[in-house]
Amino acid sequence: MSDDEKLTGRKEELIAHYKQSGYLQAENVIRAFRAVPREKFIGPNPKQFAYHDRPLSIFSNQTISAPHMVAMMVSKKCLDFNVGEVCLEIGGGSGYHAAVIAEIIAPTGSDKTKWGHIYTVEIVEKLVDFARENLKEAGYSDRVTVIHGDGSLGYPEKAPYDKITVAAAAPEIPQPLIVQLKPGGRLVIPVGKKGFYQELIIAKKLKNGTISKSSMCGVAFVPLIGEHGFS
Ligand code: SAH
Repeated sequence: MSDDEKLTGRKEELIAHYKQSGYLQAENVIRAFRAVPREKFIGPNPKQFAYHDRPLSIFSNQTISAPHMVAMMVSKKCLDFNVGEVCLEIGGGSGYHAAVIAEIIAPTGSDKTKWGHIYTVEIVEKLVDFARENLKEAGYSDRVTVIHGDGSLGYPEKAPYDKITVAAAAPEIPQPLIVQLKPGGRLVIPVGKKGFYQELIIAKKLKNGTISKSSMCGVAFVPLIGEHGFS
């Protein structure tokens, strides 16, 4: 069996496990998981780690979330992405999470005129280059734009967004992100103390602009730094 076949086998085992445990349910999300090659986003880690259900260390002391966390955050219950949506991610890291979102809002092989787009903001310059390279290598540069900056301020240039996903823990929801969310849009963010467990909060902006919040589960994310993050 070739290395590629082994990786495909591992990926299918992980998908089957996630289906059984409820992390993967919707067909569009399962398709995205199958389509995105996580092995192209894990840097110096051995390729076979790509489909282990655990976070992985990359350089600059940062981690890529475990794949089940990505599955949960892109699920219908959480952000419920649809083709054509314009989205913002804070904490681009390796670019993997953004690629999975891109595959849902702008599926490979589908009508490009209907494609959505994802902007992902990353504060560590080395990771901006890493994410851009990975996304190019995996074929997502046309649907994902990586921006170097402080994502706690959002990215007003392309606002408002249908969905905003934050991959680092904040003391509270940064106000600029609420402002940059479309009425009817959704935002997900881990909120709590630095270095402790946080709550994964889903915030929905109602048509009249008010915010309704609910907690999905307990999580442990790296801290969001920057102006509206931890100092
Ligand atoms: N989504 C990533 C994992 C993100 S880990 C992936 O799929 O690989 C969290 C990331 O948030 C780290 O890369 C960290 O550098 C970044 N980060 C922390 N504070 C930030 C801020 N204020 N703006 C943008 N990125 C930030």
